[in-house]
Amino acid sequence: MYNKILLPIDLNHKASWDRALPTALVLCKTYDASLHVVTVMPDFGLPLVGGFFPKEFTDQAKKALTDQFKEFIKEHVPKDIKVQRIVVDGKPYEAILRVSKKLNVDLIVMASHKRKRLEEYLLGTNAMRVVQQSKKSVMIVR
Ligand code: ADP
Repeated sequence: MYNKILLPIDLNHKASWDRALPTALVLCKTYDASLHVVTVMPDFGLPLVGGFFPKEFTDQAKKALTDQFKEFIKEHVPKDIKVQRIVVDGKPYEAILRVSKKLNVDLIVMASHKRKRLEEYLLGTNAMRVVQQSKKSVMIVR
């Protein structure tokens, strides 16, 4: 039923993966699907933001994030799961939608919030926009 599952996570916010990752792993095992974990860097490319940072800074930040991401996958994803890591930049919801189209995933699994303190709202802005705009199925994990 599902071949490719996309899991967007923010490595700095545990709430974005502590329940969504185990759910995605069960789905991958059940359907023998591959897992595509995407993390979005803050948009240093925007003229207003990017102008303040030298290029080496963004390269270093990307490398640090990639290293952190590798460790995370090693620690949290069992070896028998086919997994792909994706680091992109931009606005999280736009990047998530872009990657989901590019990889042609069947399902996006994501937490409703990345920060615990905002749980009184139904959905965070990134989650809401992905649900509204995605042509793929989206599972919101609460
Ligand atoms: P809130 O701002 O209310 O905490 P968000 O809508 O930003 O909630 O986060 C909901 C989900 O969006 C996260 O669980 C995660 O799946 C995705 N998301 C948010 N930021 C990022 C990011 N930088 N990289 C990847 N996914 C993200």
